[in-house]
Amino acid sequence: MKKIIVFTCLIIGMSVTHVLLSSYSDPLKEPENPLLEKFNTVHETVPFDKVRNEHFLPAIKEGIAQGRSEVDAIVNNPEAPSFANTIVALDRSGDRLSRVSSALFNLNAAETSPELQQIVREVSPLTTEYSNDISLNEKLFARIKTVYENRKSLQLDAESAMLLEKTYKSFARNGANLSGPDKDRFRAINKRLSELAITFNENVLEETNHYLLEVTEERDLAGLPDFVKEAAKLTAQEKGKPGWAFTLQAPSFMPFMTYSENRELRKVLFVASSSRGFHGDKNDNQAIIKETVKLRHERAKLLGYESHAHFVLEERMAGSAEKVNGFLAELFDYAKPVADQQMQELLAYAQKLGFAENQLQRWDYGFYAEKLKKEKYAIDNEMLKPYFKLENVVEGAFMVAQKLYGITFKPNDQIPVYHPEVKAYEVFDERGEFLAVFYTDFFPRPGKRNGAWATSFRGQEVINKTNVRPHISNVCNFTRPTQTIPSLLTFGEVETLFHEFGHALHGILSQCQYGSTSGMSVYWDFVELPSQIMENWCTEKEALDLFARHYLTNEPIPQALVDKIIASANFMEGYVTMRQLSLGMLDMAYHGKVQDIDDIGQFEQQAVAKTNLLPAVAGTNVSTAFSHIFAGGYSAGYYSYKWAEVLDADAFSYFKSKGIFSKEVAKSFRDNVLSKGGSEHPMTLYKRFRGQEPSPKPLLKRAGLIKVP
Ligand SMILES: [Zn+2]
Repeated sequence: MKKIIVFTCLIIGMSVTHVLLSSYSDPLKEPENPLLEKFNTVHETVPFDKVRNEHFLPAIKEGIAQGRSEVDAIVNNPEAPSFANTIVALDRSGDRLSRVSSALFNLNAAETSPELQQIVREVSPLTTEYSNDISLNEKLFARIKTVYENRKSLQLDAESAMLLEKTYKSFARNGANLSGPDKDRFRAINKRLSELAITFNENVLEETNHYLLEVTEERDLAGLPDFVKEAAKLTAQEKGKPGWAFTLQAPSFMPFMTYSENRELRKVLFVASSSRGFHGDKNDNQAIIKETVKLRHERAKLLGYESHAHFVLEERMAGSAEKVNGFLAELFDYAKPVADQQMQELLAYAQKLGFAENQLQRWDYGFYAEKLKKEKYAIDNEMLKPYFKLENVVEGAFMVAQKLYGITFKPNDQIPVYHPEVKAYEVFDERGEFLAVFYTDFFPRPGKRNGAWATSFRGQEVINKTNVRPHISNVCNFTRPTQTIPSLLTFGEVETLFHEFGHALHGILSQCQYGSTSGMSVYWDFVELPSQIMENWCTEKEALDLFARHYLTNEPIPQALVDKIIASANFMEGYVTMRQLSLGMLDMAYHGKVQDIDDIGQFEQQAVAKTNLLPAVAGTNVSTAFSHIFAGGYSAGYYSYKWAEVLDADAFSYFKSKGIFSKEVAKSFRDNVLSKGGSEHPMTLYKRFRGQEPSPKPLLKRAGLIKVP
């Protein structure tokens, strides 16, 4: 049973275009469905040039039918259950469905439309039912259990043993040991939870897209850089409004919060963004959260776990809710005093500039932090951006990968794409052997979610000795070029690009046997190691020199500026850490103990109170737009970002000790981590790479939360 991976990284948000709908259909001839044929394209990529929305539903139905008959064949096999005829056969089943549904769900994230959303609404219950029918198939489970109980005598290699373990547990955790009404209830809960997640997301998207801050007086633009004004004018024109307009999408929202001198308007925009899903109207997410939390808890209890967090964390590197809570608490103790001190410094600085109150508000933080940063380090986004033209940064990420792993990226316009802005590459290894297809999709569109993510259209696996290579995609929302200025990235966007590219490498370099254990199919708190470690190369002069060149003069980025990037990297790190810990603690609060939540606003305030560095704002709420945990698969898992930072800082300190382009360390990282997917327990893989367990010390040092000895 192939997994469908849609893997998101940052926060989610969106609305509408019709790129797939343009094909002409001949009324006299039953049109063929390209999703039902073997993909006759370069590397069997999805034939986006031929696919239309109406092809999805029939192809999904056919994929489900094929998957069912493949599973039936396993169940009805007269031979005794074996690893090959049961576990491997199951891993291979559902190939058609996996390819079609990953195309559909990936499109729904990157290029959706009301029509596509409607298809997803019809498809989701069908695929959920299919998965449930398999995971609750008693005869199939009986065969799996037989193999599992005999596992000691099978002499399986490590990856096969992992596949067997994962398969058995996925059944047990999906209710295979339940019977009668419990089994029915379990199915009903899963179905309902999947509906709730979809509606949650749609509400956030609508809340994001329907908001517009209109500005008609030029004086209200004070402080904003020209590029921001230009983009705001364009936005207003697109919406048929006079003057300028700002949205809740990051490229519009963030610069306004950072630069606008109009405090009242900053407050308006902040409140609009921070109250999404919290207005008590048709897009309100409070009831959805309550029901989701309750059902998750009930499901965990049905399976014999203490809570949803206990259920989730059993299959994590961290291992238990207690461990995660302890981890967050430990980091909190280091970060809180540093954060408090930094906020004092920020307030004093604001007052020096004429801020007349005794307390900064949330809509003041970004504004003064940017100014303080500029004063302290004489550096701001606008000074750096000319050195980070999008095309150069992409080339830089490719060059870093080439220096580390010897791989190369070649654009191929014969590979069909779903939007003209999407680029497709072939990736080759050192010997010129084909490794993967890599898609990039960088600019915001109305039909794209907020944030940035990596995903796959096809996973890596070995079938009949053929190494099936993966199709990986990076989707982001970077500042679009204007008529006069190319796309110039903020330093944060540069890090995001490297981050998602790190996920992509995890997929691209995969060398595993089974789809269920390959590429990004790893424990959640391990999945951010390959991505976060890549961000480290962005703060190294040796790496920046490869690509950070002024877009007008082609001058390499000056050493002084790089020094400032490095010096400023820990700027307000206490605050940033507190923000992450706050989200992690909020997540654990929802999923830790028995929950019957009365009031979402109150509950959230209680859960995050000790992490608040600025006063809470009435009428705002993080939870109601917290798609990560209510619609994105990060429930009881948000801590994993920090967890992975511990791993990435520790791993990168190893690179640094031998040189950031050390072939020796890169080879070990590739051989023991990047190519291994989830084929063994992450701690085993990590220790093989590092020679020891990860230590939190390199992270605390890097973040300036402990003094470097
Ligand atoms: Zn990530």
